[in-house]
Amino acid sequence: MGEVPDNAQVHLLNADLHSHSTVSDGTLQPEALAQRAADRGVELWALTDHDALAGQARAREAALDLGLAWLTGTEVSVTFAGETVHVIGLGFDADNPDLIAGLATTRGGRLQRAREMADSLGRAGIPGALDGALSYVEDPQAVTRTHFARFLVDRGICSDAHEVFRRFLNEGKPGFVPHRWARLGDAVKWITGAGGMAVVAHPARCRFSPTAEFALFSEFVAHGGRGVEVMVSAHNDLERRRFADIALEFDLHASRGSDFHDPVESRCDLGSLPDLPGTLRPVWQALAPRIQGLRDQALSRSA
Ligand code: AMP
Ligand code: MN
Ligand code: MN
Ligand code: MN
Repeated sequence: MGEVPDNAQVHLLNADLHSHSTVSDGTLQPEALAQRAADRGVELWALTDHDALAGQARAREAALDLGLAWLTGTEVSVTFAGETVHVIGLGFDADNPDLIAGLATTRGGRLQRAREMADSLGRAGIPGALDGALSYVEDPQAVTRTHFARFLVDRGICSDAHEVFRRFLNEGKPGFVPHRWARLGDAVKWITGAGGMAVVAHPARCRFSPTAEFALFSEFVAHGGRGVEVMVSAHNDLERRRFADIALEFDLHASRGSDFHDPVESRCDLGSLPDLPGTLRPVWQALAPRIQGLRDQALSRSA
């Protein structure tokens, strides 16, 4: 474990703290993801599978073998004010029983929801979607809408995942099934109780009114949340600036992550985003004691 120097260069570290493996809805195994991150110049990496920790030990071993600094990670599905919000957890103890149990409960509803989604798609004239989606997933309990999207694309029903979501899987479309995920306060408590930092993932993806967005960040902070993703593939330049302002307004640390899922599907590759603005405090500065395999010179060097 190393110390992160408190200097102006820290935000230049090539950190990628948001990615998915075959444990959730990514298509690369944790080892292949670690290799791809290292090949693309990532200096600090986290695997953040949806509601799951099953890839953490493999990710750690692969990263440390490659000389790639590493943090534990997950992306928790939350329902807040009737909308789905994703909360990234970083730098926690992956053996914490409350975190493990909380994530198990959160993923517990996925298979039943998938059955209902498949029934709904069947009524829309698309049979076989449950078996189809499950054929892309390692653990049936981890099934996501992404797996349905892959099935519909491979069947030739849509040309890419974005078309699938637009026509079938977004709210109000035939394959959408409303679902209640974890509560915001519970997700933050599981992460912080395990010694980690809770970070609001890609907040621009939530279609909140300004009032609901203010409530989200106020409650998040009140529960002990300390970070927000600013530099993430889902955000355009305007949104990056807007959430940089939110980070300053709510005194949050800022995070950076590609949300990489697959070499073809993902428009943003590992480690390829712009640096965080120098005005923000990176999450990895606060998480320094939790980073494994950290080399001080990587953090203190000038760009
Ligand atoms: P779920 O947690 O089952 O609701 O699935 C959510 C996942 O679907 C996200 O983690 C993304 O990987 C993926 N997703 C959501 N919206 C889109 C979209 N418009 N295009 C492609 N993938 C999407
Ligand atoms: Mn995903
Ligand atoms: Mn997400
Ligand atoms: Mn993600």
